[in-house]
Amino acid sequence: MNKEFTNLLEKHQLRKTAPRLSVLSILKSRNTATSQPELEAMIGKDVDRVTLYRILKTFEEKGIIHKILDLNGTANYAICHSSCNEHDHNDNHVHFNCTICLDIYCLENIQIPDIKMPSGFVSHTTNFVSYGICKKCSEKAKQYTNSNEDQ
Ligand SMILES: [Zn+2]
Ligand SMILES: [Zn+2]
Ligand SMILES: [Zn+2]
Repeated sequence: MNKEFTNLLEKHQLRKTAPRLSVLSILKSRNTATSQPELEAMIGKDVDRVTLYRILKTFEEKGIIHKILDLNGTANYAICHSSCNEHDHNDNHVHFNCTICLDIYCLENIQIPDIKMPSGFVSHTTNFVSYGICKKCSEKAKQYTNSNEDQ
């Protein structure tokens, strides 16, 4: 068992179960957010859909993962920065959703600017998703153009 993941579950007073550890290791191993259908496919038949749904819900409540909606409105999940706690997320970074590969990136180093609310409005969370072409896809497009020019 991975010590980092068991410690993380302990810190949040969660029982160390195999499905929870699998979800953590999948989410940690990727540099983009993962949707529930993707997780289902990666985790295999050992974990049923309801269990997976509950795990994601618990992790989100505990401040272990945060949810990002993609272009199609599908929920994607990414591991939180360590400063998140139960019912208190501090994921104030910009997300990037690629319109070609649909991957969602956490741009941890890009902070969402403070947005001044009109009087009487109290903001708890601000979502900032930028849509466009990711690095991987723009490099692919460049290679394609180059190989066409060679001919
Ligand atoms: Zn968070
Ligand atoms: Zn892309
Ligand atoms: Zn994020």
